[in-house]
Amino acid sequence: MKRFAPLAALSLAIAAPAAAQEADRFAEVEIRVEQVAPGIAVLFGAGGNIGVSYGEDGTVLIDDQYAPLTERIEAAIAGLGAAPVRFLINTHWHGDHTGGNENFGEAGALIMAHDNVRTRLAAGLEESPFGAIPPAPEAALPVVTYHDGVKLHLNGDTVHAIHMHNGHTDGDSVILWENANVVHMGDLYFKDVTLPFIDRGSGGSAQGMLAAVERVLEMTDAETRIIPGHGPMATRADLQAYRDMLHTVIERVRSEIDAGKSLDEIQALGIADAYAVDGGFIDAPTFIGFVHDSLTDPEAMEHGHHGEGRHEH
Ligand SMILES: [Zn+2]
Ligand SMILES: [Zn+2]
Repeated sequence: MKRFAPLAALSLAIAAPAAAQEADRFAEVEIRVEQVAPGIAVLFGAGGNIGVSYGEDGTVLIDDQYAPLTERIEAAIAGLGAAPVRFLINTHWHGDHTGGNENFGEAGALIMAHDNVRTRLAAGLEESPFGAIPPAPEAALPVVTYHDGVKLHLNGDTVHAIHMHNGHTDGDSVILWENANVVHMGDLYFKDVTLPFIDRGSGGSAQGMLAAVERVLEMTDAETRIIPGHGPMATRADLQAYRDMLHTVIERVRSEIDAGKSLDEIQALGIADAYAVDGGFIDAPTFIGFVHDSLTDPEAMEHGHHGEGRHEH
């Protein structure tokens, strides 16, 4: 387990400017642990919230933030009295959720995700809102991939990874602990930190995000503990309010499009202003742009309205 320090040192040596910047960026990050239920915790650090499921059958990690944080994440897991990670599920391919994959994969974790997560990680992206994303190394790629979902039967629970079509990206999974009544939403749900990020370049759509949230509402009750992709723990009532926001904004933008308004004109209406978060990385006009782009894309429309995807083929 102690092989990460030399690896990190090596990557600093061979990729000095970028790696040094990265190290600086994460130098002050502490991993904060919050117990959600017996045998389930959430880790807050930098990047997407991490779910941990642990017990006599082993440790399951949901997402893994950034590579420079792996040792701190491992220390937090050990602090729970949990074994090293046996299974790692990625809720989607973004680097703030998969940045530790190579480290955990090399340490022996079996990485699992939706098919499109592996495809996108392996391909990288020449252009994205975050700059070029290089193809991920082999050890970072999910070894087990699924189309609709997968279930893990361990630690006295059934842990469902359920694919949601074309929401935040085209590879989103929601993780549901059946007995413990806990859900990890990935980036289909941000709580309090920003307006939604719909990654259109990775196959996300506003309609798909709304459909996913509505599906989770059907699977949950007032007692469910909800782990958002970013932000603090949430209740089903919080998620219901988020669903209502998404629905209201989508329907308003749709009616303005139907009335013949341009994107600029719709953005000027301030439809999402009341929901914007100070300092959030997605501002209201950007969010309206995502919704407009989704509603005027015939393929996104099809995915959103008809739910169960025929789009992968
Ligand atoms: Zn994220
Ligand atoms: Zn994301």
